Amino acid sequence: MAGSSSSRPNMHTSRESWDTACTKDIEETWRTYARVPSLASVIPPGAATILAQSDASLLQVQQDTRLICEMQQDLAKTASRRFAEDGFEREWKIMAPVKRKEVILEGIYRTMSLPDMEDRRRWCPDSTSKYLASQNGDAFLRMLKGLLPTDLYASISVPIDIPHPVVDRFFTLSPADERKPGFKTIIRLYRLSRIYCLTTIVWNTFLAFYGEKETQLAIKPPKADRAADAKFREDPQGLNSTQVRDVMKQHNTQRKAYDHACWKCSKSERMFEPGQKLQACSKCRAINRLVFYCSRQCQLDDWKNGVPVPHKQICGKLMNEDSTVDSALNSDEVEVSWLPKADASYKRSPALLHQISLLRQGDGLDYVFVLPGSTGDDVGARFWPIEEKIQFLIQRNRAFRTGDPGAVSKMFLALCGVAATSSVPVSNELVRNQLENQYGVVLSEPLLSEEGPEPTSEEIMFAMLGLKDQIARSNAASATASA
Ligand SMILES: [Zn+2]
Ligand SMILES: [Zn+2]
Repeated sequence: MAGSSSSRPNMHTSRESWDTACTKDIEETWRTYARVPSLASVIPPGAATILAQSDASLLQVQQDTRLICEMQQDLAKTASRRFAEDGFEREWKIMAPVKRKEVILEGIYRTMSLPDMEDRRRWCPDSTSKYLASQNGDAFLRMLKGLLPTDLYASISVPIDIPHPVVDRFFTLSPADERKPGFKTIIRLYRLSRIYCLTTIVWNTFLAFYGEKETQLAIKPPKADRAADAKFREDPQGLNSTQVRDVMKQHNTQRKAYDHACWKCSKSERMFEPGQKLQACSKCRAINRLVFYCSRQCQLDDWKNGVPVPHKQICGKLMNEDSTVDSALNSDEVEVSWLPKADASYKRSPALLHQISLLRQGDGLDYVFVLPGSTGDDVGARFWPIEEKIQFLIQRNRAFRTGDPGAVSKMFLALCGVAATSSVPVSNELVRNQLENQYGVVLSEPLLSEEGPEPTSEEIMFAMLGLKDQIARSNAASATASA
């Protein structure tokens, strides 16, 4: 990166000027990168082979993948709940611009205090406070929403990417470069670095907004200090193969010193009770690869359910590029029959995703009233008799599929009727806020009262499937209760 980090003002004592200096560096770097045809054109082939085909680098791809997936999963759950409950989006938008920029800077500061982040930030021209605060905070909001999966219920096993026109072009490999050994892995590592850094900044900014002290990733293991790599990157063309090998050796020594943490739960040795020790996987140790676990439980879990690949697939086997690069791509999305997919032109809001995930967990509810500040003690809505239920499910599913304002209005009226008789009192105002949050519509009087389109046969089928699922779930619940 142009201008080394050591020449910058101290981040802890003069945060504002530190931020200004970082922004300047990043902008300068990317002005240069924008002129280079592609990243591949500046990677020396020999170095790519050594650095990227080593087992350690491939393992790092896996480790980063796993950490990012965990982080994105946590972010998705927490953020969508906050979108739904506290109307995060509205609060964020009405915030004073100066305050908003402060919160963003706090998020960046917390992130950059973590080991290894300086290096990862190289690939993030969109990580500056200037950019994230732009368009009245919309740039940040877009990034946050972009990081939320379309299905909160399914586990994330492929990191969600953050597109950027210049970076994406820079990272694109020509078919010829793609065939060169190591290139795919190098790009993959850089891309993961980028996602890692941005996800962490978004997380920390989000936490800072809520005044939460903890720094996300506080418990994650520190990575190697990659000063050696940095040196290599400053002038990669100028190194001969012996020097590249030296860099690699240094790199590995540093990794060994830092990476001692449980591969599964990331607990590091410093956090252990006296007497507890990390155990290395012996088959992996035999091929000079250090994979540690804190307990038998973690080892078993990783063996069977490891992300991105179960450990049994790589245990004791040296990896090669082809075996790992694409192995993360077989995610198993959890499908449910009663839930229509969103139309291609309709993007569900985080608050709506939260609602859907609550419905998928709950036992046979038609809707869930999300109570602000609660920690999961939400109130469910159930319609009865059966005609009323089916009517409601048709409107609800239509809103899930397209966000149709007419369907949302009808849902609003129906839900107010149920809210009035619910076990915990739910006000019409709360129902209104919740639906406006979820569908981005304004429910002002007078509400649309026209009939709306007749339900299609597909809509009736989905409603019936919903009903069937509810009956199955309540049967299962009463069976467990009586057992
Ligand atoms: Zn563990
Ligand atoms: Zn192993």
